[in-house]
Amino acid sequence: MGTRPLLNRRLAGMGTTIFAEMSALAVRTGSINLGQGFPDTDGPREIAEAAADAVLDGRGNQYPPGPGIPELRTAVAEHQQRFHGLTYDPDTEVLVTAGATEAIAAALLALLEPGDEVIAFEPFYDSYAACIAMAGAVRVPLTLRAPTFRPDLDELRALITPRTRLLLINTPHNPTGTVLTAEELRTIAELAVEHDLLVVTDEVYEHLVFGTAVHHPIAALPGMRERTVSISSAGKTFSFTGWKVGWVTAAPALVSAVRTAKQYLTYVSAGPFQYAVAEALRLPDTYFEQFRADLLRKRDLLLDGLTAAGFRAFTPEGTYFITTDITPLGEKDGIEFCRSLPERCGVVAIPNAVFYDDADAGRSLVRFTFCKKDEVLAEAVTRLQRL
Ligand code: PMP
Ligand code: GLN
Repeated sequence: MGTRPLLNRRLAGMGTTIFAEMSALAVRTGSINLGQGFPDTDGPREIAEAAADAVLDGRGNQYPPGPGIPELRTAVAEHQQRFHGLTYDPDTEVLVTAGATEAIAAALLALLEPGDEVIAFEPFYDSYAACIAMAGAVRVPLTLRAPTFRPDLDELRALITPRTRLLLINTPHNPTGTVLTAEELRTIAELAVEHDLLVVTDEVYEHLVFGTAVHHPIAALPGMRERTVSISSAGKTFSFTGWKVGWVTAAPALVSAVRTAKQYLTYVSAGPFQYAVAEALRLPDTYFEQFRADLLRKRDLLLDGLTAAGFRAFTPEGTYFITTDITPLGEKDGIEFCRSLPERCGVVAIPNAVFYDDADAGRSLVRFTFCKKDEVLAEAVTRLQRL
């Protein structure tokens, strides 16, 4: 095989995802897993039954249509209208994907040329760096810094060069919990229009916002509809992360470009689950309200517990993650801290450092998820007091 590394240069150093590493550590040590973001309670029973019915009735057991089943595309378009006032044609402006993950990959692979620059907020969700790399493009981070984790939009302006092709945004933002304000989004949109940039926006946490924070889709702003690829998925909103049903909404030319890449990634996926997600998207407002209220209670339970244990916890406006600073505990390095945490107190968390290019900006930050049963969070909090 010679001496040439097997893994190509684009993916060098990307090894195993932090989520896989930390979830395996949780299983191996029997720890409470507040690392990878997946709920320990499944979504609504009637939606699970809809999936089971689809399997037993023979709906979706064979390859579904490439763009997704019409029922789901229609439900996605209705959902965009109902919650955000955005109108999309289910036939030409909606594409069903294997989770948001495939939507991100297909969008970046389709829209980028090698050498194009992509500006993304760091800390970034780990698949962004990998997909930008697979597309041969260059990532340009705009660092969100503690304690506010808000983007410096003058810095954003300064990062734009003639090679910038695309802004990759994520609101509500994983892992910081920042929800971009209408004002921030307006400035970002104006920059995109002024410099003729594409925008890919990852909105998988669109329903997970708390207090006075409101999720605003950037696609609704002037000049944005024709240049924005909006991405969401069922995993977070309906607590079925294993189903991997996601979607893209965008103007026809953008959907067509993304579909071109998508058809050679998975072609199609999750046939029967697509029927169930179509039903989920039509759940009454009470579902979404109750889900948010439950998560808000869990957020506050974990925030209080982390603070009592000595962490500096930053209150998230959205998502189901809390970013903390471990410096007050006399700790400096989040990666070392997370590797030793199971042994020290039987809890698993995620070091934010792995989401940064600027290692110093994230070194002492650690993320905990609160999408777990109240009693599990309470037990985790008790264990963390031992630190
Ligand atoms: N984007 C962000 C910001 C995420 O946190 C996640 C994790 N769920 C994804 C995308 C991937 O979503 P999916 O599971 O639908 O592929
Ligand atoms: N989105 C989840 C998180 O941030 C993990 C998804 C994954 O394992 N890729 O924790």
